[in-house]
Amino acid sequence: MTITDPNTYKLLTPGPLTTSISVRKEMLVDRCTWDDDYKQMTQFVRRELLKLAHADESAYSTVLMQGSGTFGVESVLSSAAGKNDCVLVPVNGAYSERMCQILERHGIAYVREDFGWDERVDATRLEDALAAHPEVTILSIVHNETTSGLINDLESVSRVAHEHNLMFIVDAMSSFGAVDVDVAALGIDFLISSANKCIQGVPGFSFIIARRATLEATEGRARTISLDLHAQWRTMQKDDGKWRFTSPTHVVAAFAQALKELHCEGGVAARGRRYSASNKKLREGMRALGFEPFVSEAFQGPIITTFLYPQGRTLDFHHMHGWLKEHGYVIYPGKLTDRDTFRIGNIGEIYEDDVEKILALFAQYCEEFLK
Ligand SMILES: *Cc1c(COP(=O)(O)O)cnc(C)c1O
Repeated sequence: MTITDPNTYKLLTPGPLTTSISVRKEMLVDRCTWDDDYKQMTQFVRRELLKLAHADESAYSTVLMQGSGTFGVESVLSSAAGKNDCVLVPVNGAYSERMCQILERHGIAYVREDFGWDERVDATRLEDALAAHPEVTILSIVHNETTSGLINDLESVSRVAHEHNLMFIVDAMSSFGAVDVDVAALGIDFLISSANKCIQGVPGFSFIIARRATLEATEGRARTISLDLHAQWRTMQKDDGKWRFTSPTHVVAAFAQALKELHCEGGVAARGRRYSASNKKLREGMRALGFEPFVSEAFQGPIITTFLYPQGRTLDFHHMHGWLKEHGYVIYPGKLTDRDTFRIGNIGEIYEDDVEKILALFAQYCEEFLK
């Protein structure tokens, strides 16, 4: 396949996702990690991310971390929590569940507050949990639960964190870059996202937007060498953009290009509008075909939608997935434990005409196979 070839199929999965040819093209150059050009690229990425987060360089700093998004989450949780800290985790999907697994594994004290997976995190219930657990010092939440497509309300939750003087950690993996998150105004201490979500880069690293004062206070707390957030930051600062260990050079170059393309599209607001429009059209079109969304419209985020299997008809996901792939689109299996669902993501290089094609394909599939 030459680089001018389009994809044989497009990904309706929220990372990896369909990237532009120009983003992919950046990966054709082999770059040297200690070269000034490359370090400047790293610094450009760090600065641009701060701007997207509305964070001033005097109070915030970006740390890039090798690995997928989970590595970023584990880096923050295992580096920021001290021996006497206790983390409150509101759980309403697989990614908040994973935060608990990470805390468990590292032997970090935590309290989980469970919500339905089609239910938003409720600030009042967090207040109750805090009243029952005065030992809590950190609040860690997932913004957009990619499990279901539900988006949590950061503002009400941030108020709880602020009022109780808690360190505030946000996994904004699948929202950052498409949903405006004002890190400073929300008083976020650590925001985590990754290269292959709404910024539309390729997989290979995560990034953390950290409040400097909080980050500085975490020195020496890390429980691992490779995910030591403070050590990673210190090297990037001291050596002006040098990564601590081998950096994913191709991925960083692609990401720098993706950031430029986000800017050209009109920034976070414009990208958010494109995603929201696609998401709405998909929800409505699929519903008309008999596929009910799992999450109510009020809680639905603009990134991915979970659809229930149509009632009274047998659906073979494997077959449907294969048929759609042959016709140019790859969908995602469901991630709910108790309901039969599948998911359609709409982030990446997916536009209105794609949505129309996808809906036409589903209509055809229903006609031929879902009698
Ligand atoms: C993608 C994602 C992650 C990270 O998953 P990886 O598979 O490690 O990239 C974490 N949280 C949320 C909400 C996500 O969407």
